[in-house]
Amino acid sequence: MTDIIIIGGGPAGLSTAIYAKRAGLSVMVFDKGAADCQLTKATEVENYLGFPSISGLELQEKFSQHAKAHNVQIVKKAVVSVEKNDWGFKVCTKKEVFESKYLVLAMGRSHKHLGIEGEDRLSGAGVSYCATCDGFFFKNKTVCVIGGGDSALTQAIYLSGLCEKVFLVHRRDTFRASNYLVERAKSINNIEFVLNASPTKIIGDTHVLGIELATQREGNIVLTCDGVFGAIGETPNIKFEIDGLNKNESGHIITDKYCRTNINGLYAVGDIREREVYQVITAVADGALAIEGILADQSINL
Ligand SMILES: Cc1cc2nc3c(=O)[nH]c(=O)nc-3n(C[C@H](O)[C@H](O)[C@H](O)COP(=O)(O)OP(=O)(O)OC[C@H]3O[C@@H](n4cnc5c(N)ncnc54)[C@H](O)[C@@H]3O)c2cc1C
Repeated sequence: MTDIIIIGGGPAGLSTAIYAKRAGLSVMVFDKGAADCQLTKATEVENYLGFPSISGLELQEKFSQHAKAHNVQIVKKAVVSVEKNDWGFKVCTKKEVFESKYLVLAMGRSHKHLGIEGEDRLSGAGVSYCATCDGFFFKNKTVCVIGGGDSALTQAIYLSGLCEKVFLVHRRDTFRASNYLVERAKSINNIEFVLNASPTKIIGDTHVLGIELATQREGNIVLTCDGVFGAIGETPNIKFEIDGLNKNESGHIITDKYCRTNINGLYAVGDIREREVYQVITAVADGALAIEGILADQSINL
């Protein structure tokens, strides 16, 4: 039986695997492929320490090479179900079953898409879902943030410090976001609220030129802008049931400071868990925390 099985070979999973190996624990990583890793979708990463500018794909490749240098076994298969029993966990791919004492969930999350014309074509060419990641590329430009929750308001406020103008587009005139965020955004001069408006099309051939909105008052209108930030929510990638696992409203897993879930021996690292900041640097930091937690649990169980 392996000490630790990690589901997900993105930054969080691989960092956990490296810390595990260096602590003398046996580890297996299951990863269903780079196409489902958020980091590989980042055209350019400029905020990961040690790399002034690097594509997400290249950074992820460096993480994989680092893990392989520590003889981490990476199995290129999707996990389809897991089961907890008295001694640990059963982890199933389509055809095989593996067993471990500890299980670490590192499957990341996916941004909800707006589902409108131009969105996929212009993704990475003006369409983004992460202000902290891509805001800098829109310095002194005009952007449009779509959404009415905490994430949309937070992104609009963040972008107002970088951009000349920020449109906050929301389909209603009331917000799901916390009141203090709404009030804060309202007090910022270069944020303009466009309410009762739903995006219908992102305009531009090679890069974003504007966005078309269906409004209640004026019919269809076009806002000229250089970037569109979709902020209508994120879904953690949990495609199988884990009985009794504590999650928050948006489905992110609730953990303690060592990434422990409420289920004995089950950990969650990276973007799949509830946290304040969703970035590569915070995802990799979880590896150190989770292994510290597992080592502490082991010494209690000895
Ligand atoms: C377009 C874009 C740009 C970004 N830009 C930046 C940036 O500039 N700077 C920054 O710090 N952050 C950026 N981020 C955020 C960053 O990519 C994430 O915070 C980080 O990748 C989270 O790491 P993770 O390991 O938790 O998840 P992920 O990177 O998503 O990795 C999850 C892995 O789990 C695997 N997986 C999922 N389900 C299963 C399963 N059932 N079985 C096996 N494997 C599974 C997937 O294949 C994937 O490889 C960006 C994100 C996006 C989408």
